[in-house]
Amino acid sequence: MKKKQYDLIIVGGGMAGASLACALADTGIRMAIIEAVPWQSDQQPSYDVRTISLSHGSRLIYETMGIWQKIDKNAVCPIHRIHVSDRGHPGITHLDRKDADVEALGYVIENRALGAALMTRLESLEHVDIISPAVVSDIDVADDFATLTCTTDGEDITLQGKLVVIADGGRSGLREKLGFQSTTDDYRQTAIVCNVTPGKNHRHCAYERFTPSGPLAMLPMNDDRCWCVWAVDEADVEELTAMPEDQFLERLQQQFGDRLGRFSRAGRRYAYPLARNRVKTHTGRRVVLVGNAAHTVHPVAAQGFNLGLRDVAWLAEVLAQAHDQQQDPGSSDVLQQYEKIRNKDTQRVTGFTHGMIKVFTSRLPPVIAARNLGLLATDIFPELKQALLKRTMGLTGRQSRLARGLELKGNLNNNA
Ligand SMILES: Cc1cc2nc3c(=O)[nH]c(=O)nc-3n(C[C@H](O)[C@H](O)[C@H](O)COP(=O)(O)OP(=O)(O)OC[C@H]3O[C@@H](n4cnc5c(N)ncnc54)[C@H](O)[C@@H]3O)c2cc1C
Repeated sequence: MKKKQYDLIIVGGGMAGASLACALADTGIRMAIIEAVPWQSDQQPSYDVRTISLSHGSRLIYETMGIWQKIDKNAVCPIHRIHVSDRGHPGITHLDRKDADVEALGYVIENRALGAALMTRLESLEHVDIISPAVVSDIDVADDFATLTCTTDGEDITLQGKLVVIADGGRSGLREKLGFQSTTDDYRQTAIVCNVTPGKNHRHCAYERFTPSGPLAMLPMNDDRCWCVWAVDEADVEELTAMPEDQFLERLQQQFGDRLGRFSRAGRRYAYPLARNRVKTHTGRRVVLVGNAAHTVHPVAAQGFNLGLRDVAWLAEVLAQAHDQQQDPGSSDVLQQYEKIRNKDTQRVTGFTHGMIKVFTSRLPPVIAARNLGLLATDIFPELKQALLKRTMGLTGRQSRLARGLELKGNLNNNA
């Protein structure tokens, strides 16, 4: 049986796993990336039909990594303004790129375009072995290394790594297998996603509208289309995805209103059940969880992958520094450093998104009054607006070197 040795083995070549390997591309760290679905296949779940909103902060990270420059710009639409409203109530908040003095508050980007840029970069790296399609059948962690067995091309192979990064997504099988404790909150909601053609030009405005069943986002895309993410009661999903296009558009219009004129077309509808998942700790013996394997959040406020990319940026920074100092990347010192850095951000984002869902789906009159006052106050008071802008742009809290445009080297306590 073949046996190969690495500094780092990444399980999952989706957006989080592939981004981590790209972030470490110039460090000389020997890596293997194991992906279950055939490489560059249309079936790759992380690079599916979805379109996600990346924050200004995520753009900075990808820019420093040299990935942003490689993404097909036909698949990217900048967000200049964000309009937040509560259906049937007066609360409204506006955020504008001018308030933050940036080119765009964020970017709506097709997952496939991001995937193509990441995969092409990985294919060009000599010290990264791409093992795909391959499924990990066993993992065993010893004091000095972890051993993974996987099957690829009908052959069993064994890999040894000083550190294993689990980036296999929200339904992570390995997380459970390795004994990580996690908690799940089922929202009993499903996101219906599709592109729609509005009657009016979106003018680069992203709309977040809270409705009694759940939030409805309309994100600007190129070709004058919008990307619709509509969280609905799970009981309504089958009907809403199966009904004829004109009836669906009518129901959507009722919830969204006419700020974008009459919707005339809807693309194919896809459904994603929604839940929050959090682990107690991000690290275990010679193992780290990143991206959705560590935390899955409601898509309201488009925080999920932006949070995952900050995991990636910080883990890459900690590992690059350990490599420079010839430290064992899987040692408890290195992993503790990462754990300490990531805890706060994860708690903040998982708590914030969960709180938003609770507050904005409540039908209790005092809660409705308070949330509308909150929206109006955010629109009026500059301090509140700046706080929300910072969160929206992914710039809350301590920033990684990649987010600050700096190479992955040097001391973590050094701000230069
Ligand atoms: C409707 C919806 C809208 C969203 N919108 C936004 C948004 O606007 N902004 C935002 O930031 N986030 C958004 N998100 C969240 C975002 O999609 C996720 O955070 C992101 O996809 C997570 O990436 P990941 O790489 O961690 O996991 P995944 O995308 O799940 O990738 C996991 C990868 O691991 C592979 N894999 C699985 N098991 C194994 C195994 N055993 N061995 C090897 N490989 C394996 C899979 O094939 C896959 O390639 C949204 C989510 C949803 C559902």
